[in-house]
Amino acid sequence: MALSPVPVSMSPPYSTPELQRPAVAPDTPLQRTLREQQTLLDSAGVGIVFLRQRSVVRCNQRYAEIFGYPSAERLVGLNTEAFYPNRDAFQELGRSAYPVLALGQSFRVERQLRRCDGSLFWGSLTGRLINPQDTTEGSIWILDDINEQKRAQAALNAAVREKQLLFDSAMVGIVFLRNRYLTRCNDHFEQMLGYQPGELMGSSSRRWYASDEAWEEVGQRCYPSLAAGIPYEGEVELCRKDGTPVICEVRSKPIDPAAPAQGSIWITMDITERKQAQAALARAHEDLEQQVQDRTRELRETVDNLHREINDRKADQERIYWLAHYDALTGLPNRALLSERAEQAIRVAQEGNTPLALIFLDLDHFKHVNDSLGHRVGDALLVEIAKRLRAVVRDKDTVSRLGGDEFILLLPGANAHGAARVAGKLQEASRQHYQIDHHELTMAPSMGIALFPQDGVDFDTLTQSADVAMYRAKLDGRNTFRFFTPEMQAESVRALQLENALRRALEREQFYLHYQPQMSLSTGSVHSVEALLRWQHPQLGGISPAEFIPIAEDSGQILQIGEWVLRTALAQLKDWRSNGFPHLTMAVNLSAIQFRQPQLPEMVSRMLAEFDLPPDSLELELTEGVAVDDPHAAVATMDQLHARGVRMSMDDFGTGYSSLSQLKRFQIFKLKIDQSFVRDLGNDVNDRAIVSAIIRMAQALGMRTTAEGVETEGQLAYLREQGCDEAQGYHLSTPLPPAELEVFMRQHSDMVQAVHYKN
Ligand code: C2E
Ligand code: MG
Ligand code: MG
Repeated sequence: MALSPVPVSMSPPYSTPELQRPAVAPDTPLQRTLREQQTLLDSAGVGIVFLRQRSVVRCNQRYAEIFGYPSAERLVGLNTEAFYPNRDAFQELGRSAYPVLALGQSFRVERQLRRCDGSLFWGSLTGRLINPQDTTEGSIWILDDINEQKRAQAALNAAVREKQLLFDSAMVGIVFLRNRYLTRCNDHFEQMLGYQPGELMGSSSRRWYASDEAWEEVGQRCYPSLAAGIPYEGEVELCRKDGTPVICEVRSKPIDPAAPAQGSIWITMDITERKQAQAALARAHEDLEQQVQDRTRELRETVDNLHREINDRKADQERIYWLAHYDALTGLPNRALLSERAEQAIRVAQEGNTPLALIFLDLDHFKHVNDSLGHRVGDALLVEIAKRLRAVVRDKDTVSRLGGDEFILLLPGANAHGAARVAGKLQEASRQHYQIDHHELTMAPSMGIALFPQDGVDFDTLTQSADVAMYRAKLDGRNTFRFFTPEMQAESVRALQLENALRRALEREQFYLHYQPQMSLSTGSVHSVEALLRWQHPQLGGISPAEFIPIAEDSGQILQIGEWVLRTALAQLKDWRSNGFPHLTMAVNLSAIQFRQPQLPEMVSRMLAEFDLPPDSLELELTEGVAVDDPHAAVATMDQLHARGVRMSMDDFGTGYSSLSQLKRFQIFKLKIDQSFVRDLGNDVNDRAIVSAIIRMAQALGMRTTAEGVETEGQLAYLREQGCDEAQGYHLSTPLPPAELEVFMRQHSDMVQAVHYKN
């Protein structure tokens, strides 16, 4: 080991006491050089040692300090193996240093060395042989304690490693860009975008954008702030290699805010899933919101519908109740409600022993309004009448409509007197006409009154009694009221019987006609006869037309019966005219109901034609009643009949309401003076005056006169004297069957001829 760089012996050390001591004698040049060298060595910042045979020959103070020795002298002669951690390290250094030193070169190495206290430290060793040709001359080594430097380096390396580790294993993409070109990125970034490691190196960032526009937009968004040294944070949409989008949250920072040209670092995190989840969540939220809204709306609608339904049902129930209890046309209580109220009123009357009255009211000739003016006018009239009825009675009274033109008034607390007063007021109220459209209508009531308890103790009986009384009021000339009496009950039973019997009278041929001659007072001849209807019923016997005609009128059967009468009378007339009485005329009674039939004139003409009879061979006897409801219509019908050549006479004249002004407008051929005036002609001055006035009036109007019910010669004489044209009555002849009348006529035509011969 002769060539070992470690010195084994040493010349006087540099730090010999002599050299350090101040020289007394002036220095020799050698001495000065040595001192200068010693100073240089001592002040060098590094340890310097001169070795020979790997032992310290000399060293400076710093060298000793590094190894922890108090002075350089202590190291002189020390084998350098003491400076190594172990023998192997010592020998290894020798082996590696020799070849280099032997070439005359410096050997430089960093090794762990050992201080005198045994602690290890890193040192940097640089050695060189003093004479490369002769290794025995030793070597010089410079030692630097690089322990701190080493530790700092190790710490730095560790930090760098850690950072690299972070960089490589970060779960975010990290990209370094300069001028928007990638200078470095971690694996995650490339993985995130679907590239192979290293594939993006050097690429323009345009590569991971879907379009130029997207790339530009992000540039405009980020770079102004980066250029100003301000970090950017935001979301950008990148594009994978396969074209699918990646939404990233990015944070970018200039690497050196002072020098933007250094580029920027970008931390990118794939938040696509989070975004999708958020979007899904938002959608779910929206859906939920929508569902809640829908549900709420449905609920509200359901509640609204329910409310509506409840209201509808309530309204329906109210309507049903109303319909069940009120008359739809007039709004008055109907029979059902009346019955409830009547039962209650009856209870109160019973308990309190108080009176109670019920008025049955029927409008006279109401049917004619419906027939001639139509139902609309009829309905409107009923509504007005209902109002008037209501206005007449007290609040506690009930006015109800049974239907048609029938009303019932329930008057709790009213006795006979009170009921009569109400009936009177109702009559009074009906005097005013009703204005319906352009029609001025009058409508009189017929009323029947029943009193509790004498006329009935329950609602039905009281109603029946009042109905019967009302019927009596009708028979008694209408427009009046009657109290119920037990006799009426019997009559009404008969009326019902007759009505039923009448239904079959025609088909069972129970009708026949009698004819009563009308004799000319001037000539005594018979020019005309009146057909009078007779009804012979097998059980009920012969029934007077005065009794059954009103019933037939009420039930409407009069139309059929009247037609039968007309046909039968005309057939008889035809027969007589063909058999000796060519100038005979026939008078036929016409009910007001028949008269109001619009087709009457037509029917009359047809029938005359049927029997080939001239129109003036027929005389229709009308009553004043035909003009009561609607004088205009009556005049129009008369005009039509007149135009067809049919004659008309006014029957029972003087008992009705015809005024003189009305009479003037009627196309009447003859007035028949009612028998009530004729009956007392013998002893009643008034009647005589009336009869004579009628005759004169008729003459003035150009009408003929016939006196009815002439029973005596005296009456006949007076009538003749007054200038009456004709007479009819038992004194001349009762109504006779056709054969007997024919005999009568023959006798009288003879008489007529005789009279003629006389003149
Ligand atoms: P009217 O048209 O005034 O007929 C005259 C009535 O007086 C007849 O009664 C007749 O028998 C009766 N009479 C005639 N002379 C006398 C007399 O001297 N004394 C008395 N007390 N009475 C006399 P009748 O036949 O019972 O008829 C009653 C009423 O019935 C008629 O009165 C007429 O209004 C009606 N009538 C009769 N036949 C018909 C008919 O075919 N159609 C219609 N609508 N009514 C008829
Ligand atoms: Mg008559
Ligand atoms: Mg008459």
